[in-house]
Amino acid sequence: MSTILKNTSQSETGKSSGSTPPLLQVIDLGFSYGAKQALKNINFELITGRFHALLGPNGAGKTTLFALISRLFNLQEGDILLDGCSLRKAPAQVLSNVGMVFQQSTLDLDLSVAENLHYHASLHGIGEARRRQRIAIELARVEMENYQHTRVRTLNGGHRRRIEIARALLHQPRLLLLDEATVGLDTRARTEINKHVRKLCMNQEVGVLWATHLIEEIDPNDPVTLLHKGQVLANANSLEICQRSGHANLVEAFESLTRPQQVKT
Ligand code: ATP
Repeated sequence: MSTILKNTSQSETGKSSGSTPPLLQVIDLGFSYGAKQALKNINFELITGRFHALLGPNGAGKTTLFALISRLFNLQEGDILLDGCSLRKAPAQVLSNVGMVFQQSTLDLDLSVAENLHYHASLHGIGEARRRQRIAIELARVEMENYQHTRVRTLNGGHRRRIEIARALLHQPRLLLLDEATVGLDTRARTEINKHVRKLCMNQEVGVLWATHLIEEIDPNDPVTLLHKGQVLANANSLEICQRSGHANLVEAFESLTRPQQVKT
């Protein structure tokens, strides 16, 4: 039995229809670390305003994919398009529309919240007056407006994550990438971050690619790209993955699809 679920329907994966290009298109992407192939023939699309889950166990290739989209690594095979614009041909234009929350916190612990955000906004060429305005807006959105002058070291993990999300949105990107953003947080903080990011999709017209290995973070109607050992096993919404694989829920489907003997080589 093939474990790769094909024929994904447009409505359920959030694929665009008509002439509007999807926000993000990942096309025939491949990447190797020397002899180790980490990604092979990756294809999927994400549309604006959707929370799109990139689900995969450890080592699936999620971080490598994010490193390619955010240009930490150069493309080897394939291309990534944002609003139809090629990362290969116009990297600066694409990157100006991408916000990133890394798996490991990248805040400077000895600076205040505002100092961290001003520094990041400066790197994006945002002038001082606008910086102040943008920082106030994004901190308010994550309900952290009263923490501007707090040293990051004194914040808890959930609050640090909120600051990182605010930071990633300062330059008003069209695509927000979150790499296992809830790792290390307690259940309540995890739920809050997940809810907040979903709200961003609805209110901000931003598309979100949410990398996770936690199935409880995925809703039945979320578009899901299921990645395993560097390959896409399924591109569909959670419900459809269950139906097609004949399982009652995504936990069972995920376990079945990623079971070692069923991995296509
Ligand atoms: P995790 O959830 O554990 O971070 P992941 O889904 O993000 O996993 P990656 O970190 O992208 O997966 O790793 C994909 C594959 O590439 C794994 O087999 C990993 O061992 C390998 N890999 C990652 N970084 C390197 C590297 N610098 N050199 C060699 N192999 C690497």
